Amino acid sequence: MKHTCPHCGKKSFSPLMKARCGGMSSAGKPCPECGVRCVNGKVSLAVNSILRLAAFVMIIITYFIHEPGNYMQIFLFGAVPLIAAFVLGFLFDMFFGKLIEAIKRQ
Ligand SMILES: [Zn+2]
Repeated sequence: MKHTCPHCGKKSFSPLMKARCGGMSSAGKPCPECGVRCVNGKVSLAVNSILRLAAFVMIIITYFIHEPGNYMQIFLFGAVPLIAAFVLGFLFDMFFGKLIEAIKRQ
């Protein structure tokens, strides 16, 4: 399943390539067909924002409820949400959402 380039309309982006294009604030990656730099659009931005917010909330909660000195717990509830948010956001970009032309210049 390949993703369509918003500029030339060809199915030129593999899921992994699309995920590596980054969000709307990044420089994006060039389309293999036409060379126009593309980024993930608004839906990706919204999903990634929600995931990061959820991770942040979990870290705050962990800060208040963790047992003192239990570093494993701090790791599990502090680092894991961040990693999970990153991985889920990456997976979302691989399979969902549309590419748009990058606005930002290199
Ligand atoms: Zn293209």
